[in-house]
Amino acid sequence: LVSRKNSPEDTVVQVKNTFIGGGSSVMVAGPCSVESYEQTREVAAAMKKAGVPVLRGGAFKPRTSPYDFQGLGVEGLKILKQVGDEFGLATISEIVTPADIETAAQYIDIIQIGARNMQNFELLKAAGDLRMPIVLKRGLAATLEEFLHAAEYIVSRGNNQVILIERGIRTYEKWTRNTLDISAVPILKQESHLPVLVDVTHSTGRKDILAPCARAALAAGADGIMVEVHPNPAVALSDAQQQLNIPQFFDFLDNVKGSGLFN
Ligand code: PEP
Ligand code: MN
Repeated sequence: LVSRKNSPEDTVVQVKNTFIGGGSSVMVAGPCSVESYEQTREVAAAMKKAGVPVLRGGAFKPRTSPYDFQGLGVEGLKILKQVGDEFGLATISEIVTPADIETAAQYIDIIQIGARNMQNFELLKAAGDLRMPIVLKRGLAATLEEFLHAAEYIVSRGNNQVILIERGIRTYEKWTRNTLDISAVPILKQESHLPVLVDVTHSTGRKDILAPCARAALAAGADGIMVEVHPNPAVALSDAQQQLNIPQFFDFLDNVKGSGLFN
């Protein structure tokens, strides 16, 4: 069902007034984690000013260490709802268990399935039973075939509003957090009709190369970019190293838009 062969037309996912896929570029931005109403609101206000329509923020955080900040849970989803309504932004947040999926659907516009859960098949099935947009991130060591099979789990249950995100894969390279697989973009676009975004933050893990990587993603045919933004990254409760502050975010947007590749 996700194959381009079965359905040559691009899938376009609508969320609030934004269309994802089908030739227009979308920017998704926001903090790694929702930490407070004020912190989320500050990023959302900057996004509104810049015309960036989709706010991301983690409430259930899949952290490597159990001692790291695990997210605000449902409280975080409520903050996203409040801030999204206030600024007219669509919202995305990661859900890690089928048990939370119905609750999440009340508060957010798009459910994210993270890299670590790309093959959590029960979660994929639960997402497939919803009738709302799902963003599915590529697993840390998933082949493209496995990635598309994971998307098929969702679509085969009747939910065709699926957006794919390339977010880097694990390789031996240490100078980036993951290796951005830019070739995934044209391959996924060829093989599937689903929209493809590139998460430049988690793939690179470094702020200094976000703009060229975003340009490369768009040049390769990506339907949009995901980037992490925090009012004060130095004190962020997760991913402090890699989030842009607000002035850096504005510079990033200017750079990406200046490429002429962002439609
Ligand atoms: C995220 O986007 O917040 C995240 C944890 O990303 P990933 O699942 O790609 O690591
Ligand atoms: Mn993060």
